[in-house]
Amino acid sequence: MGHNAALAVAGRRRHVLLFPLAYQGHINPMFRLAGILHARGFAVTVFHTHFNAPDPSRHPQYRFVPVPDGMSGPAPVAIEDVVSHIFALNAACEAPFRDILAAILDEYSKDAVACLVADGHLLSMVQVATRLSVPTLVLRTGSAACFSCFLAYPLLIDRGYLPVQESELETEVSELPPYRVRDLMRVGSHDLTRELLAHVVAAVDASAGVILNTFDALERRELEKLRRDLTLPVFDIGPLHMFSPVTESSLLREDRSCLEWLDARTPASVLYVSFGSLACMSSRDLVETAWGIASSGVPFLWVVRPGLVAAAVEENETTATRLPDGFEAATRGRGTVVSWAPQEEVLRHPAVAGFWTHCGWNSTTESVCEGVPMLCRPHFGDQMGNARYVEHVWKVGFEVGGKLERGAVEAAIRRLVTGSDGAEMRARAGELKKAAKECTGKAGSSDLAIGKLVDHMLSL
Ligand code: UDP
Repeated sequence: MGHNAALAVAGRRRHVLLFPLAYQGHINPMFRLAGILHARGFAVTVFHTHFNAPDPSRHPQYRFVPVPDGMSGPAPVAIEDVVSHIFALNAACEAPFRDILAAILDEYSKDAVACLVADGHLLSMVQVATRLSVPTLVLRTGSAACFSCFLAYPLLIDRGYLPVQESELETEVSELPPYRVRDLMRVGSHDLTRELLAHVVAAVDASAGVILNTFDALERRELEKLRRDLTLPVFDIGPLHMFSPVTESSLLREDRSCLEWLDARTPASVLYVSFGSLACMSSRDLVETAWGIASSGVPFLWVVRPGLVAAAVEENETTATRLPDGFEAATRGRGTVVSWAPQEEVLRHPAVAGFWTHCGWNSTTESVCEGVPMLCRPHFGDQMGNARYVEHVWKVGFEVGGKLERGAVEAAIRRLVTGSDGAEMRARAGELKKAAKECTGKAGSSDLAIGKLVDHMLSL
């Protein structure tokens, strides 16, 4: 059966059901996937929690179905609270989702529903769908290497790499090169990390395939390894944002004035600084970062989002993070600070020379795809592993490690933006940008993988 025939049952379009995890780094790739599947002819239904709910008016082409999560209170800040919150969302949504999904299946008729694509952190939703005989696929929003680390976790415990010992941080993990112990996935305590990873692996195991936001030219060896280790199909269809550039899925309002500010700067002169949607820093690190940026003399665009400084959050100062006295005067005319940026457009802007990032997987791929080299300051989760690949494998950036000191920050910024090895990193990032274009172009590896994904969805 060809795509067009398969996409319509009794004259109606096939439905794909999507359930993103309600955090920015997970919402963005799921909405990109929605755009891709919608363009291929699927009708899209998005389930969502009340927590971080999307704005349906920004996506009139999709149907939105809220699933009560019973949560109240502010969003969690510390990473261990985020992980507990993910477990709580699973537990709270399970029963309501069962009823809502059953009603949707009646409404659409069962054979009009191709499958559910759930975020890898939503095991309970995968289980609910399986019980109702709805095929599932899992979207993993991290790298292929990171998912191999998830799969290998029990082995790494057996072999004594984990729980992490401070004295072993530099030990190479020979089972998972190029990771060292310090690069392994970590979210709070060892037990919490182990529980989270087992939860995600169980979701993938229960599904009919895993979709990864990565691409062949970036992670060929890692994808081959995953395909050897998994009996399920693996669809490497990334970088998703290159297929579906406009998403409107930002939870915070983007300050677009920074694009005009960039327009007035000379090409390849500006450092873009952003630590994503969750990473927090101490007030001390904020001060060192600020003075390092100031004394580098390099023009900058810095995202200081509400809640960036942990202490300010504890004191309920979620609306503003105060930069040190004198910083604004010292950098006037040379930099701008916003609370949230249209990041992809910023990275695409010719004025941007480098990106100081926490190495979330979305930020890392967005930077690579625009040929922008990176200063890496990973905080938790998969960020250390991503930074390892940036520095050691792709050689498109380097880590600012250890205790943050303004002198080291200043030197690192200069090295990246004006140094000769920074220029080499930029050239290599430019090669990856070309490779990403080829993979996502007509008959490129990711384009072909999307075709296979659609066929697979229609065959389930
Ligand atoms: N982002 C943005 N504006 C900002 C900072 C981040 O739009 O000022 C977007 C960024 O483009 C990326 C996402 O937020 O798609 C962050 O995801 P990532 O995986 O990099 O980090 P996380 O927030 O999950 O730690």
